[in-house]
Amino acid sequence: MNLIKSDIEIAQAALMKPIKEIGKKIGLGEDDLESFGKYKAKLSTDVLNRLSEKESGKLILVTAINPTPAGEGKSTVTVGLGDALNKLGKNAMVAMREPSLGPTMGLKGGAAGGGYSQVLPMEDINLHFTGDLHAITSANNALAALIDNHLQQGNELRIDQRRIVWKRALDLNDRALRKVIIGLGGPVQGVPREDGFDITVASEIMAVLCLATDLPDLKERLGKMVIAYNVDRKPVTVKDLGVEGALTLLLKEAVKPNLVQTIEHTPALIHGGPFANIAHGCNSVIATKAAVKLADYVVTEAGFGADLGAEKFLHIKARSAGIKPEAVVIVATVRALKMHGGLQKNELASEDIEALTSGFANLKKHVETIESFGLPFVVAINRFIADTDNELKVLSALCDQYEIPHAITEVWEKGGDGGVDLAKRVLGLIEMQESNFKPLYNLELPLEDKIKTIAQKVYGAINVDFSAKARKQLHEFAEHGWDQLPICMAKTQYSLSDDPKKLGRPESFIITIRELKPSIGAGFIVALTGDVMTMPGLPKSPAALKMDVNEKGQAIGLF
Ligand code: ADP
Repeated sequence: MNLIKSDIEIAQAALMKPIKEIGKKIGLGEDDLESFGKYKAKLSTDVLNRLSEKESGKLILVTAINPTPAGEGKSTVTVGLGDALNKLGKNAMVAMREPSLGPTMGLKGGAAGGGYSQVLPMEDINLHFTGDLHAITSANNALAALIDNHLQQGNELRIDQRRIVWKRALDLNDRALRKVIIGLGGPVQGVPREDGFDITVASEIMAVLCLATDLPDLKERLGKMVIAYNVDRKPVTVKDLGVEGALTLLLKEAVKPNLVQTIEHTPALIHGGPFANIAHGCNSVIATKAAVKLADYVVTEAGFGADLGAEKFLHIKARSAGIKPEAVVIVATVRALKMHGGLQKNELASEDIEALTSGFANLKKHVETIESFGLPFVVAINRFIADTDNELKVLSALCDQYEIPHAITEVWEKGGDGGVDLAKRVLGLIEMQESNFKPLYNLELPLEDKIKTIAQKVYGAINVDFSAKARKQLHEFAEHGWDQLPICMAKTQYSLSDDPKKLGRPESFIITIRELKPSIGAGFIVALTGDVMTMPGLPKSPAALKMDVNEKGQAIGLF
């Protein structure tokens, strides 16, 4: 008999409190909440304005080693740490991203934490939630339709139809839509041209929504988005097309953060969900800023490993929003480190000290990265039931050898109780160690040097190779005055390099930059490395095959 309950079984058995009560815990009245049923609410704009004068609490950033199919549990630790801080009598909440249907139906499983450290209602959060991703997808595709209509109606802006950079979007993994031809069928069907789809969570509108500070800033950023180049090779923006008002209108509700709760009733803001490999990987600035006003301690998460999510949190989000973490938690697991040390997923059941010791190099690199940003940190060893005592002892000893502060967490199994040690370490760090946060590159550096800094200092590459196309773009982007923007690298999450097969701590590798993309509304330049895709595909055996719904309307097989 299998005694271990699945995430969804635990989530469905948990008792939620009405969202009004959760709001009350953080000083919110009924008028501050716009309820979506009994257990979800959006924060009203009034509350966001009112909070701006309040003193800010402490921000704790959760990041991790490079993910492997063995699982790391960053969201699980984020939720568990929030619960543990509350257990210690602190006023804490969590701020996380909204899951995308791409990984939900595909490979990864849920993005609402796991075990006894989850946010609820887990089914809703993982499916359509409060419709934010729908609104973002609609705004994205409304813009695409308006561009094609502009071509059809005479093309006053003289857009070069071969140089339209705005793509359509869908919040699913659908490789068949990566490249499409549209407008076929004769003059009344539109202007034929090559187009393509990105997954919604990689779209610029998702990034814009997550980096905007309020509605006027959202509109300003939407207006700046580059949609195409004209026949003179000059950029054409949304403002040129005159539709930034319409796009803002479509997003006016989506821009408000969503309040939910953890299994232990810790308040959680879940808002915005850019991927960290092909986008900037952090929840919205509006949610993080609201959370630090509402609670004394806020635990937030940046996607994938510290080479992606944390680097972008620190170089893009923190800089643009004027925030900084007081402490960083780096999540690692024995299992994932063993895979970084050369084991396959089916070899993880037995103890393997050699693989663990060798895979430790991946954790050490991420620790060095966080140290180089001047941030206090602690490693959270997320314990899996199959980890042996000996393996945990060896991992602790390796951390001790390099003077890496660490704590074992059992939040997946025990909820907040399993995270008390980690919470105490984090509180100690915040009290004793000052956060001397300093970005690794200045915005004044040329784009090429900013990319090299990330590749060399964060990934450990020896150099960067730019394709002929990327070289040409470096030059053009500088001419357009975009060279003062930060970089958003698009790179595989599995490796520090741009080759997903190179696990551990690869050495002597070169990062290849294939192409650059302007995200002027978001305020960064995307650098695409290797063969990373902005529309993922489904795996051979998608998670969707296990999903169903029972006669009561409850989800089955959602992890
Ligand atoms: P990440 O945020 O790093 O992608 P999640 O927190 O979403 O990881 O966890 C991924 C999956 O791993 C979830 O299904 C979760 O239940 C599971 N998981 C996380 N930590 C543990 C653990 N300690 N033991 C068993 N399963 C875990």
